[in-house]
Amino acid sequence: MTRAIKPRLYFAVAQALPKRDVDKMKIKAAVLNQMGAEPPYDKSKPLSIDEFELDDPGHGEVMVKIGAAGLCHSDLSVIDGNRPRPTPMVLGHEAAGTVEKLGPGVDDLKVGDHVVMVFVPSCGHCLPCAEGRPALCEPGAIANNAGTLLSGARRLHRNGGDVHHHLGCSAFAEYATVSRRSLVKIDQELPFDEAALFGCAVLTGVGAVINTAKASAGSSVAVIGLGGVGRGYLPTHQKRFRYGPWTNQRLLPQSAPSRKQKCKTGEQPLDRRAA
Ligand SMILES: [Zn+2]
Ligand SMILES: [Zn+2]
Repeated sequence: MTRAIKPRLYFAVAQALPKRDVDKMKIKAAVLNQMGAEPPYDKSKPLSIDEFELDDPGHGEVMVKIGAAGLCHSDLSVIDGNRPRPTPMVLGHEAAGTVEKLGPGVDDLKVGDHVVMVFVPSCGHCLPCAEGRPALCEPGAIANNAGTLLSGARRLHRNGGDVHHHLGCSAFAEYATVSRRSLVKIDQELPFDEAALFGCAVLTGVGAVINTAKASAGSSVAVIGLGGVGRGYLPTHQKRFRYGPWTNQRLLPQSAPSRKQKCKTGEQPLDRRAA
């Protein structure tokens, strides 16, 4: 029987680990200094580009050179204050990139590997993780709410102060130091701008079909809203995007637009999606 570690204890132990001296590198990133800016955002400009110090990865952490990052509605929900988070915070959680540095204890990745970030790090030990529901990881949720990595650390700094991480990623940046448990290794052939979508839009859309709706192959469904999530499960991008039994079933509109085309309704293309 698997013993679940109490999330708060896990978090406290991680926080209490001895701080080691770390090297820092200068990076540029998009930071939210204050929530609640009034739209339109092209006028109020809630995000600003600033210079930060980024720590080398600690134990179980990895530094990633960001290749692409998408704008998700969860980023906008922090900007407008609907989902309050501590500030200043570097946003961005739907991203892909290249492994730049490995922290101690990371032995299943190597420098140069391509990875996608996931927005809930899973500890692998708490009850939801032990039950096979890593998206509900309790220490992961605590860390995300606090604006830290899974270890409890903040690896971003500005003017001597800590800067918060968004969903353990903070990917609107040149580089990000994240928990190994916030990363999934991917095939190097997948372009970064497509791979990044697997970090949120695709897994949310696919998860809604497979895990929530439990739609069976061949069944007809209606997709309400063809934004990033709504189109996230549509394997219209040739053979690369195949999701088990769904391909070529009636579940999928055969004439659905490719992800780089604009919708007929004039929506933003998926690459610039807001939802
Ligand atoms: Zn998202
Ligand atoms: Zn967990």
